[in-house]
Amino acid sequence: MALRFCQGTSCHQYCTKDRLRGTKDNKTFQTRRRSSFYYGKSNFCSLNCQNDWFETYGNRAIDHFGRLTEAKHLTEENAWVKDYDWRGGYGDSDRFYFFVNKITKEQRPLTEEQYRNDNYTLNE
Ligand SMILES: [Zn+2]
Repeated sequence: MALRFCQGTSCHQYCTKDRLRGTKDNKTFQTRRRSSFYYGKSNFCSLNCQNDWFETYGNRAIDHFGRLTEAKHLTEENAWVKDYDWRGGYGDSDRFYFFVNKITKEQRPLTEEQYRNDNYTLNE
């Protein structure tokens, strides 16, 4: 698997042992590199690095993708969220997945695959 770099703008400035890389006389603190990261869709090695990125680029990113200029409204049509509970059991295999409408409280069953698919939604 290809290694990826933490996208944090100041990652190399956090002087931890694992960031100190290079040959004996030529060691420098370097941006972390891993096969995957826990934060920001696997782009950041820590919440600190994610926050650093946002501090630097956040406003530009929001302006680029469209700044919200009026309130969104939760209505029956867009109130479906995915949820699960442990109906009748314990452990991952006993999870019961469903859609629940935050306004009407209506529930509809989901398969695990549908639950994990970010593109699968009942919202209009
Ligand atoms: Zn980092």
